[in-house]
Amino acid sequence: MQIFDLTRKKLESTLLENGFPKFKATQIMQWIYQKRVFSFDEMTNISKSDREKLAGMFEITPVFPNEIFTSSDGTKKLAFTLSDGNVVEAVIIPEETRCTLCVSTQAGCPIKCAFCRTGSLGFRRNLTVAEINSQVLSAQIEAGKNEKRITNLVFMGMGEPLLNFENLLDSIDILLDDFGFNFSNRKITVSTSGIADKIVELGEKTKVNLAVSLHAVTDEKRDKIMPVNKKYPLKELLKAIDSYPISRKMVVLEYVMLKNFNDFPEDAEKLAKIAKRYDAKVNIIPFNTFDGAAFEPTPMKKIIDFQNILIAKNVTALIRKSRGGDKLAACGQLGRVKN
Ligand code: SAH
Ligand code: SF4
Repeated sequence: MQIFDLTRKKLESTLLENGFPKFKATQIMQWIYQKRVFSFDEMTNISKSDREKLAGMFEITPVFPNEIFTSSDGTKKLAFTLSDGNVVEAVIIPEETRCTLCVSTQAGCPIKCAFCRTGSLGFRRNLTVAEINSQVLSAQIEAGKNEKRITNLVFMGMGEPLLNFENLLDSIDILLDDFGFNFSNRKITVSTSGIADKIVELGEKTKVNLAVSLHAVTDEKRDKIMPVNKKYPLKELLKAIDSYPISRKMVVLEYVMLKNFNDFPEDAEKLAKIAKRYDAKVNIIPFNTFDGAAFEPTPMKKIIDFQNILIAKNVTALIRKSRGGDKLAACGQLGRVKN
């Protein structure tokens, strides 16, 4: 059994079933998540016979990156080759006051948004809890080398987090656990292409922030770039966001600017209305291009005009600075799935 797959509850029940006291779970978790000790032999507050028994029960083998690419702007892309040969990526984005890690939840992505490189590569499989949290562990180690700390986590890497729902929940559980990674809810954001029923469930089961990849404000346009809209059309998606308890959480609407497609003033007007409904912040994302992309980026001047329409309507709208583009580490560029 891979210990990084287990929430504290699951670890406790496995230990109890094998004749160990429950508190052993917190001891073991402190060793692996806080002291980053990956061998029972070194867990000196556990007796030798217990250590031997535990070593027979559990593997403690996180996945480490086999390649790290550093961008000219300081962004780092960590590439992990998984045991079955699939490759997934995580991106560390250092900023002045914080350091954000962008985490992947699937190898490839089944949603196939028309503007996304990851989507164009097809879907391989869901990541395990251990594979998701290994990205965080590895990024903490990597950031630590430059005396930096990962302060924020965004589930915005490869894949659709809400289609790997059970593993996402367990991953978040461990990320929040005092004896695990000890992050706070406010520092974690899950981004989704709009799996409406799972948005509702996420709101019921967690207190993390929600980001929704909206990208178009009519079904007609959204259908064209996000096939997921056929299953969960805008009305249903917007209703699901209504159910998200925003009093304790923050909702962000993401909007990628595609030249002469969704970048007109009337799009901005409609987007402002939707943002007001949730008091949501809008993140305007300049389109990052890649080989074979079917869209072009909107010129910056037009992006700023778009932003100004939102601001004039009292909507907080930020243009996301593109980071890591020279190493294909920017939004929508991730993905190198081995055949
Ligand atoms: N699958 C989830 C999370 C990962 S994508 C989602 O879609 O929300 C992270 C963000 O990057 C999403 O808002 C996504 O729409 C956006 N994105 C995808 N391709 C992009 C591209 N080529 N340029 C800019 N942003 C892109
Ligand atoms: Fe998947 Fe998100 Fe890319 Fe769409 S934008 S294909 S949901 S990773």
